[in-house]
Amino acid sequence: SLNKQNSKVIVVGLGITGLSVAKFLHNLGLQFAMVDSRKNPPFNDELLAEMPDVAVFTDGFDPAVFDVATHIIVSPGVSMQEPIIQQTIARGARSLSDIDLFACAVDKPVVTITGSNGKSTVTTLLGDMAKAANKKVAVGGNLGIPALDLLNDEIEIYILELSSFQLERTSQLNAVAATVLNISADHMDRYANLDAYIEQKHKVYAGNGVMLINLDCPYAASIKPSNRDVLTFSLKGNADYCVIETANGRSLAFHGRAIFPVDKLLISGVHNQSNALAALALGAVIGLPETAMCAALGRFKGLKHRMQFVANINEVCWVNDSKATNVGACVAALQGFKDSSVVLIAGGDAKAADMSDLVSVLQEKVKALLLIGKDSQLIQQAVNDCIPVLDVGTLKKAVKKAQTIAQAGDTVLLSPACASLDQFANYKERGAQFVAEVKALEQ
Ligand code: ADP
Repeated sequence: SLNKQNSKVIVVGLGITGLSVAKFLHNLGLQFAMVDSRKNPPFNDELLAEMPDVAVFTDGFDPAVFDVATHIIVSPGVSMQEPIIQQTIARGARSLSDIDLFACAVDKPVVTITGSNGKSTVTTLLGDMAKAANKKVAVGGNLGIPALDLLNDEIEIYILELSSFQLERTSQLNAVAATVLNISADHMDRYANLDAYIEQKHKVYAGNGVMLINLDCPYAASIKPSNRDVLTFSLKGNADYCVIETANGRSLAFHGRAIFPVDKLLISGVHNQSNALAALALGAVIGLPETAMCAALGRFKGLKHRMQFVANINEVCWVNDSKATNVGACVAALQGFKDSSVVLIAGGDAKAADMSDLVSVLQEKVKALLLIGKDSQLIQQAVNDCIPVLDVGTLKKAVKKAQTIAQAGDTVLLSPACASLDQFANYKERGAQFVAEVKALEQ
């Protein structure tokens, strides 16, 4: 049935999300077509193995396919600004997302987590808390397993990480608890301006569930809730969930009552205290007992490539924060260190971000900045020699150079503030290469 005429539902993008949508529609017995501009989309073979009859149109966007579509489901990797997608929606086709289909199909509580940074950390931590409370929980979305693939009658609670690209094409969400962890400039190559990005992030609050709001982030907290249950968290001020001083040191707290001592956290950096507060608050909304949440928190070591300790060589500590793909994450990473003690390796694809936001934290914490990747000139201009800067080109050279600069007590930190795609398959490959180069120094 390779027929453009009967392909009223089209799924754009044959990546992991597109494949999950295809499986979902196929199981419902609905007819649809897959469209991908690439010649060899990544999941073509998997799709055809499972659904040999599905119409697949690759190698460009054929207008004839889009012309007959009544419903269009665009994967997050494809921009909604693509002219053919804009035209299809403008002439009346309905735009849906995998998350919309999930929201329509799900019959159990859903928690949704977005933000510029910390999504995967909080999503995973909350999942661990739910497991510690013996809940049958499914965790995924932007992280790991696509939302639709999580659907299962036995699941009691779903925890979804959502990106701005997922949220911007989603209109049917209604989570029991939702949060925007924080907002800092990211993806400015795909949004007209910061306000447009903020607007998409706030869509996580659609529906009538509890809104969890970070009072420390003016952008995240700029939403004005009406007739909604609200919980707040903050590292500084007065919030439902915050950090307090006790006789035994600082503690995560609820309404002034200590819940978990900060020095028992295995994840480092103040940003991770913020992440822990968010997870505790979301867990409370879904009824997780505090004892179970604290047990999970006490065991949580964080995820790979996020402030991951690699080695200590001649009293120099090497840390892999390859997942820092934007300026906000790099700033958060640096804030945890002693003044002028960091040799920072950064650079890559800056995604049109304003790198001058790094200047003050560089001046405070960084003794030398080693730049890699395609936007090194741009970064060099933005930071304007506020500290010594060297354009070394590759990660391999950066590691070698860093070893000659760092002294006992210093840290060499890979926290690129940029995407990796100009030089690597993804942040994982970048992080793995860093770890391998550092391990080779130990030999
Ligand atoms: P995401 O899924 O949003 O990308 P991760 O948990 O994978 O978030 O962390 C991404 C990067 O952001 C890492 O470099 C991490 O150290 C940093 N980070 C984590 N939480 C925060 C936070 N609350 N604020 C700022 N940066 C953070």
